[in-house]
Amino acid sequence: MRAKRSKKYRKLMHQYELTFGFREPYQVLVDSNFLQQVHNFKMDLMPALERTVQGQIKPLLTKCSLAAITAAQPINPKTGKHFRPIHLPPPTVLPLRHCSHNPESEPIDEIDCLLSLLSPNAEAKKNKEHYILATADPAVKKSDNNNDNQQRKRKRDEERQEEQALRRARNLRIRARSIPGVPIIYVKRSVMVLEPMSTPSENVREGVERDKFRVGLPQPETKPEEGQEGAPKKKIPGLKKAKGPNPLSVKKPKKRTAEPTGSKQANKRPASEAPRDNKPAEQAGGEEGDAPKTKRRRRHHKSGPREGDEADPAPVEADQAMDVEA
Ligand SMILES: [Zn+2]
Repeated sequence: MRAKRSKKYRKLMHQYELTFGFREPYQVLVDSNFLQQVHNFKMDLMPALERTVQGQIKPLLTKCSLAAITAAQPINPKTGKHFRPIHLPPPTVLPLRHCSHNPESEPIDEIDCLLSLLSPNAEAKKNKEHYILATADPAVKKSDNNNDNQQRKRKRDEERQEEQALRRARNLRIRARSIPGVPIIYVKRSVMVLEPMSTPSENVREGVERDKFRVGLPQPETKPEEGQEGAPKKKIPGLKKAKGPNPLSVKKPKKRTAEPTGSKQANKRPASEAPRDNKPAEQAGGEEGDAPKTKRRRRHHKSGPREGDEADPAPVEADQAMDVEA
């Protein structure tokens, strides 16, 4: 694989890890067409897949895919069973993914099976198990050119079947792309390809990026003065609940213990909250005037009120702390 492409694929899988939580070893659901083409182009299943996703993989074959593969094989007259297909790797290489779609656990249509694993909930469309889909267009059979009438009719039937199989394979890829977070590998002209992110996946990725951006922003954005009408009004109530009570209520009880100025504080509190975003400088200056007094007193009671700082900043508590010390 060319360096440029492997770098691109590594980056792509990294994005699947960040956005959708993919982790190595990646679970790869391989389908019947994929196995057929891997065999036709003489690829080595595991190394080819690991080179494509640039990481360790765990390939899986669903029971329904296995049923589709074996059903397409001729029957061995000696045993009365289907021949084991030459392109089917042994279960030690390619373990079965047990899927039970019905009480009898009868195999269902391969494509329905794969889609049900990729998105267990047809409406929510979420690739919970973080599967990668490995698929391919069906192999085209080379039929010999006999001009016999019967053969020509058979050929037409074959062509119709091939066309149908091709449509089904394309449909699987289209429907898999509609589920966000499904990486798709497929064999294209003897090359194993990792598709770029589908639009639904890309949308989720952009949403995640946007959320990250949004989470990062508020702190620097709310601090500077903003006289805008819409945004600050919405944000300030939330901020008051989170930030307001602690610094204010922790400082004031100590003041109260020193001088009985309860009425002044009652006045101060709303004043400090209301013009918060407009005059932070003036506010700070006003408080600094009181500050030296409180600072001196705080030093005396350092060991006592400290616990109160964290637990309960109510003035009553602070008084009790005083009593204990004295
Ligand atoms: Zn199944």
